[in-house]
Amino acid sequence: MTTPLTLDDLTAAGAHRRGHFRLSSGLHSGDYLQCALFLADPRRAERAGRLLAAAVSRLEVEPELIVSPALGGLIIGHETARTLELPFIFTERQEGNMTLRRGFAVRSGQRAVVVEDVVTTGKSTREVIEVLEKAGARVIALASIVNRSGSENPFDNLPYAALLTVSFPTWDPAQCPLCAEGRPIEKPGSRPVSL
Ligand code: ZN
Repeated sequence: MTTPLTLDDLTAAGAHRRGHFRLSSGLHSGDYLQCALFLADPRRAERAGRLLAAAVSRLEVEPELIVSPALGGLIIGHETARTLELPFIFTERQEGNMTLRRGFAVRSGQRAVVVEDVVTTGKSTREVIEVLEKAGARVIALASIVNRSGSENPFDNLPYAALLTVSFPTWDPAQCPLCAEGRPIEKPGSRPVSL
């Protein structure tokens, strides 16, 4: 039995921080999430993979293939596939377009689950779905370590499992309460973490 993943696990790993951040979108936030720092320890990645594999199993969708978008989904997709004893392939962005990594193919009707590290808008997940369906596979479910989409399931008709659902408010700089308090702002990643 594995204990569930909590935000404290991410915080302890340096993968979640509180402060005053300028996100790449230009919005401000009091929280910053960098899942790669959690997955940087292979034992933590393995644990998250086991938990996500269990969550996928509970969806009862009987996948034949795990697919993730590079780079963010690679480690967790691989670990999840390892536990489920399924093949793992990935997509990548080529000149702005999502595509299957060269050398990978899917069988017609092959049942795929898309695995991500973090779902924010769900945009990249939807791009992976589109790539797979164009290639002939059938996407039957989605899973991620963190759901920060603000919705229990941002993927309409497909089953979706996440280990952790978080809601971090973001603000326009003009409306940011942390700016109003005069708190110094940080661009995430400007203080890299050594392991
Ligand atoms: Zn601010």
